[in-house]
Amino acid sequence: MPTYRDEALVLRTHQLGEADRIITLLTRRFGKVRAVARGVRRSSSKFGSRLEPFNHIDVQLAQGRGSLDVVAQVEAIRNSDLGADYGRFTAAEVLVEAADRLVAEERSPARQQFMLLAGALWALEKDYHAPALIVDSYLLRSLAIAGYGVQLGECAGCGQREVGWFLPQTGSVCCANCKDPSSVRLDEDSRRHLGALLAGDWATVEASARAVARRVDGMVVDYSTWHLDRALRSLPFFER
Ligand SMILES: [Zn+2]
Repeated sequence: MPTYRDEALVLRTHQLGEADRIITLLTRRFGKVRAVARGVRRSSSKFGSRLEPFNHIDVQLAQGRGSLDVVAQVEAIRNSDLGADYGRFTAAEVLVEAADRLVAEERSPARQQFMLLAGALWALEKDYHAPALIVDSYLLRSLAIAGYGVQLGECAGCGQREVGWFLPQTGSVCCANCKDPSSVRLDEDSRRHLGALLAGDWATVEASARAVARRVDGMVVDYSTWHLDRALRSLPFFER
């Protein structure tokens, strides 16, 4: 079987038979790949622990005949220790589930999604920001890469600059005349916070009041739920 090597983030794993696992990876160059890891559930396995979710690995894969490749070799680049902290662990679960959903097609390059997820997992690992802020920023940015960027400039209905509402279905802002029943109030502080999350402007994000961050968090959850077709299973478990 031909083999190839890449860097990857482990999105999830599930059991296959007695001793094997199917590992879902987001690779740097080849996008999402699913692969069988043989014998990893045996205690003698050399690389079982390297194939846990959130880990960053250097992996050699053998091309399978069907949709599954086979893990030939794994080296750890960064082993996650997010399992030690429930808040950050549940945040990481939201990130990898969203990545898995947004990179729908397998073996199709998704380099920006890889870079974004690697950065967000690293920020969680290092505790750079509150987990809820990392999750909100990640969701907005990964949705934007997938083609669902929020538009915070002018009213989506009439184009005027005076806007005070947000439409979760379209991810756009609108004015008092153009709002509909699904619109939620978006004051200036919330709009600035939302824009900063999207831009990765952490100085502005960190300067926002808690109430503003909480309000925007609700909008981001509504917005991402709408565009991911259904709610992320991991979101209700995420402890903010
Ligand atoms: Zn308008």
